[in-house]
Amino acid sequence: MMIRRENIKRVIGNTAKKFIIILSVVAMLSTAFAGCGEEKYKGSKYTGGKTGPSYTPTPVATETPEPAGTAVGTLTGTPEPTKAAANTPTNTPGPTKAAEATVTPAPTEVPKRTFTNGTAGDLEGRCLILTVFVSMDRFPWNFTTDEDNATYENVCRSIGVATDYIKENCKKYGKDVEFIYDYLEDWELSYFTDIGDYTERYDDIDYAMIYGVGEYVDYAIDIDTVMDKYDADNLLFVYVANTDAEQDFAYTCCRPWYDGFEWPFESVIMYNYDCGVLNPPSVYAHEICHLFGAPDLYNEEYADYNFTKEFYNEYVRKNATNDIMFTCMNMEDVNYVYDRITNEIGPVTAYYLGLSDDDSIIKKYKLRKSEH
Ligand SMILES: [Zn+2]
Repeated sequence: MMIRRENIKRVIGNTAKKFIIILSVVAMLSTAFAGCGEEKYKGSKYTGGKTGPSYTPTPVATETPEPAGTAVGTLTGTPEPTKAAANTPTNTPGPTKAAEATVTPAPTEVPKRTFTNGTAGDLEGRCLILTVFVSMDRFPWNFTTDEDNATYENVCRSIGVATDYIKENCKKYGKDVEFIYDYLEDWELSYFTDIGDYTERYDDIDYAMIYGVGEYVDYAIDIDTVMDKYDADNLLFVYVANTDAEQDFAYTCCRPWYDGFEWPFESVIMYNYDCGVLNPPSVYAHEICHLFGAPDLYNEEYADYNFTKEFYNEYVRKNATNDIMFTCMNMEDVNYVYDRITNEIGPVTAYYLGLSDDDSIIKKYKLRKSEH
């Protein structure tokens, strides 16, 4: 899930490459969801390694080559003209700023930056977080309602609690990181896009979030310009879908960088509700940690990281059951809390985040090396 290689190459057109991307995405998603889908089960339903529902998305794309620009479930790197309405680059207004919030996409220019590990690199310095509110027919955002305005504000507060938590933990390891995220103070830090009836192009909501919104971000946001503006060392996105308490088909996850992904930007795929429960700040923190290299710890085995049952039984279950990459629950009452995060960033997670060089546990269990 956290494969990081040397070069970023934009992959455009070419059916063979598209197919590789699709296969990669399937593999990535399988990994991500096998993990992230379980998170809400940890704590309340954790029974010593019980696994939650696994999830294998089915891509819409077929092997039949399609004309460039009309592929279903694949991308050409250029928004089609017919998508213009849905893709109009508009900063999220904040409830009262609709009229002035439209921004003009920058003309195509040669990027100044290269991202060898994606836009979320090392967990230090200034990290810019851009939040994208994603409307779809099934789950629209309607900022004329009190409910959606409250959610809009709550998402910002949750990101604030999550990033304060990460910042404080970084400090313990001697690393300074600052997060720039507060779109309630600076509305240019949030965006809005409408992917309409996503089933027209994707029969899976996660693909719609990753590719439908990714396409919008690629079109509407000039990464160099925005990172220069905020003097940012890192950049990540939080895509927020307005899912509700009644339907529990989606699991919050993330899209870390891997070699071959269409774009360099990394994102949290945040569903406001997972399994009927409002996501707390700990879930935001967990996903952000993924983007900086931390793997899930709750799998009994995890081949990508050489995590074995031995490691799980001997180390994780005895030492890491309150780690943020193991659970997002407050373990005192085995429930979510919304005003703070009570989980830890333990030595294994700190190692994979690049906060600590202590690899004694990694060596003992022959786990995969950190990419930092
Ligand atoms: Zn996870």
